Amino acid sequence: MRRRWWFVPLLLIGLVMGLSMFLPLPAADEAGYASFLQEVDDGLVASVTVHPDSGAIDVVRTNETTYVVQGPSDGIPDSDLARLDAADVEREYAASSSNWIPTLLLTLLPVLLIVGAFVWLSRRTQSQLTGVTSFSRSKARVHTAARTDITLDDVAGCASVKEEIAEVIDFLKSPERFREVGARIPKGILLVGPPGTGKTLLARAIAGEAAVPFLSITGSEFLEMFVGVGAARVRDLFETARSSRPCIVFVDEIDAIGRKRGTGLGGGHDEREQALNQLLAEMDGFESTEGIVVLAATNRPDILDPALLRAGRFDRQIVVPLPTQGERAQILAVHCRDKRLGTAVDLDVVARGTPGMSGAELANLVNEAALAAVRRGAGEITGVDLETARDRILMGIRRTSLVLDEGEQQVVAYHEAGHALLAQVLAHADPVHKVTILPAGVALGATHQLPIRERHLHRRPELDDALAVRLGGRAAEELVFGEASSGAQDDLVAATQLARTMVREWGMSERLGHLAWGSQGAVFLGEDLVHTRDYSDETARVIDEETERILGEQARRALAVLRRHRTALDSIALRLIERETLAGSEVEAIISGNRTAHGAAQLPFDVVAG
Ligand code: ADP
Ligand code: MG
Ligand code: ZN
Repeated sequence: MRRRWWFVPLLLIGLVMGLSMFLPLPAADEAGYASFLQEVDDGLVASVTVHPDSGAIDVVRTNETTYVVQGPSDGIPDSDLARLDAADVEREYAASSSNWIPTLLLTLLPVLLIVGAFVWLSRRTQSQLTGVTSFSRSKARVHTAARTDITLDDVAGCASVKEEIAEVIDFLKSPERFREVGARIPKGILLVGPPGTGKTLLARAIAGEAAVPFLSITGSEFLEMFVGVGAARVRDLFETARSSRPCIVFVDEIDAIGRKRGTGLGGGHDEREQALNQLLAEMDGFESTEGIVVLAATNRPDILDPALLRAGRFDRQIVVPLPTQGERAQILAVHCRDKRLGTAVDLDVVARGTPGMSGAELANLVNEAALAAVRRGAGEITGVDLETARDRILMGIRRTSLVLDEGEQQVVAYHEAGHALLAQVLAHADPVHKVTILPAGVALGATHQLPIRERHLHRRPELDDALAVRLGGRAAEELVFGEASSGAQDDLVAATQLARTMVREWGMSERLGHLAWGSQGAVFLGEDLVHTRDYSDETARVIDEETERILGEQARRALAVLRRHRTALDSIALRLIERETLAGSEVEAIISGNRTAHGAAQLPFDVVAG
């Protein structure tokens, strides 16, 4: 405890008091005593009461006045006693026991002071500690049923998830019905899914639907401050839960405490492990019929301690996936409910243009669009606002201040034209939605493709075309300027990644045959920090060679296609420099216009044209 120095002055005070005990008693008042004896001799004294402990003498004069004189501490000497007797002074001795109390008090006072100081100090420290624990208690926020007004209507999509949780809601609404039949509901349910897919939202919606209290805590909150507090928090949380049954206990981001024990970087896991152990103990400590349902959310189920996932704990996992195209439209609609939306806006089109976006990103998109509308001074959100918002989110805020010189602009225009042309011409590539040479974020330009439908499987021709489109930017630069610029870096990285995945994970290389290895990114803070590799150096070389081969093939193919469509490529690039942004339909028009204008002679080998 860092406040130990407080003891020092207090101890000093105590010591001084204690030492004062051993100081000599008040010295005899010699002058006073002598004049007292003189008075005795003169017959002025009637009686005395001697206090043998202190040597004090209460004197009563013959004229009834009294005073106290300090005699010798070891008692009145016999010679003086003789003088008292001679003067006929009545002599009494005060019972020495009467003096015990002040003496005892005097003796005990320093001890009492020291003890008092200790008690005071320890209570002070205690109050600091309880300050901590009561703080921890307050972190298990109780949301009363009335305040959790989120319902399942606020959660768009997630149909399969909603089906799975319907039972839990029924249970929370009337636990006795389940108890009568003896049906057990899982104690713990783990919501698993990428960030922003609505896991937290779902948990609150369950509480809202069932109209039960919602106790939530975030995993990282367990790990604050002093050792032992995390475990205390878990205890508090479940104490509160027991007293407000039926209810939902929601542990958000459970991976913060639920990570596999005995792993991770550095030391200092005691705190986390204690919290985790306490959580496990608490989950074992109540019956599943009691009316408490523990929900937890994570986006890293792979790093969770197996003990958490055991039967009787979080034995049911519900996957909350990224929304599909249709679900994206529904989520957009939910978030547009309280906003003024132009009648011409087609949310389905927006949903098509936002593949891979999570619910949170879509919510953000709608809000950005609303902001854009306000900036424009418009009264409602239009398709343009949604486009702006999408670009903003996808590519960061437009770098309007960045101005390219003419040469650079040409390179960028041809680069993007290359992507766009290939995307439009290759049969299995997603058609172009928009192509722009407006700098945005770190990219100097961008080509957006629009998948015609949601893909769940990738077929080889689609992958090949995707690679060719990716490499098309660089190919166009090479074709036109004879060399490639640094602008193709991102494309190369992405293409290499895709090709490597095809070879290593999807078994798409004849040389490797049916062998495949799962993804092997270095797991930071996970179980294995080290990049493990479960194939030989020889295999690694083959993988590299195969990746290179696939990339080389597609780069050559991209170049060949661009060469065949050279006029169209020039027109697209030219138009881009003029207009900066082209819609997919315009790109399409340019390509088919060139085709008809120049006829088959120009494009004799166009076998891949879509
Ligand atoms: P997670 O906990 O999975 O990371 P959240 O539940 O915190 O994600 O979601 C963040 C926000 O995204 C929500 O508050 C909500 O506005 C929006 N959101 C996410 N998924 C959905 C959905 N399915 N329907 C409606 N809104 C959603
Ligand atoms: Mg969350
Ligand atoms: Zn590019």
